[in-house]
Amino acid sequence: MRIDLHAHSNASDGTDSPAELVAAAVAAGLDVVALTDHDTVAGHPEAAAALHGTGLTLVPGAELSCHADGVSLHLLAYLFDPAEPAFAAERELVRTDRFRRARLIVDRCRELGAPIDWQQVERIAGAGSVGRPHIASALVEAGVVATVSDAFTAEWLANGGRADVRKHETDPVTAVRLVRAAGGVPVFAHPGASKRGATVSDRVIAELAEAGLAGLEVDHLDHDEPTRAHLRGLAAELGLLATGSSDYHGTRKTVRLGEYTTDPAVYEALLAQATGARPITG
Ligand code: AMP
Ligand code: FE
Ligand code: FE
Ligand code: ZN
Repeated sequence: MRIDLHAHSNASDGTDSPAELVAAAVAAGLDVVALTDHDTVAGHPEAAAALHGTGLTLVPGAELSCHADGVSLHLLAYLFDPAEPAFAAERELVRTDRFRRARLIVDRCRELGAPIDWQQVERIAGAGSVGRPHIASALVEAGVVATVSDAFTAEWLANGGRADVRKHETDPVTAVRLVRAAGGVPVFAHPGASKRGATVSDRVIAELAEAGLAGLEVDHLDHDEPTRAHLRGLAAELGLLATGSSDYHGTRKTVRLGEYTTDPAVYEALLAQATGARPITG
C-alpha cells in the first residue's frame, strides 16, 4: 500500500486539476491519495468523479491556515463532514480574506517595481483559493524571479517579506476543535518546516494534542533528518500518529507525488477516528 496524505489541486495552489491529480496519483503507483487544498473542499467532487475504474482511494481533506503566537501554521483535516456549518464557515472566512490580502500583496509588488497586476493573478488562480504561490507565478511570468520558490524570499513573498501581507488565520486550538466537531481527523502539517519561517514550540504542539490533535506530519520534504527524529519522538511521547506525505503542488513545487508516504497501520488508525466522511474508492 502506497499512501500519500497531502496533495493540492488547482482548487488551491496546485497546478493539476482534481481529475489530473487523480491521474497523477494512479501514474505514481499510489493506492491512496488525500486531496488537501488550502481552506477549501471545492476540488472534492471532480476528484471523486475521476476515480471510476482506477482502483485508487481518495481521502477527502483540506489544509487549514492557522496562526498562533505570531507563527503561521497549517492544519490538515481528513474525512470531516464538509457540510458541518461551523467548520464550513471558518473555511469560507479564510478564503474570503485571501482575496483582500492577495490584492494588497499585488499592490505591494507593484510599488516595489514588479510589473504584475490583479487580472493576471486572477487568471492564474482561476477558481482556486488564491494565495502567494499564484502571485509567485505572476512574478515568474513577469520575469521578476526565475521560479515560484525564488519568490519566497524576504525581498518578495516570504513570511514577513517586503510584499507579504497577513491573512485571517484560525487559532489552531479552535481549528482542532472545529475539525473534530465536524467528525474529522486533524494532523499538524509540516510542523518543523523552519525554512518557511518561524515554527511553533513543542509546548504548543502538546496543547494541540490536549485539544484533540491526532497526528504530526513527520516525513515531509521541508524536514531534515534531525527534525524528523525529534518530531517522531514527540509524537510518541504525546500519543500522536506520525504521517508522511509529499505536499504535492504540481509544477509549483519540485516534490513528486508519493515522494513521502504514510505507513498503512497509521492510515488505518486515522480512518478509525473519522466519523464525518469515508474514503472513496474508484
Ligand atoms: P499562502 O497560503 O498564500 O499564505 O501561501 C503559502 C503557500 O506558499 C504554502 O502553502 C506553499 O504552497 C507555498 N510556499 C511557501 N513557501 C514556499 C517556498 N519556499 N517555495 C515554494 N512555495 C512555497
Ligand atoms: Fe500550498
Ligand atoms: Fe502547508
Ligand atoms: Zn500543503
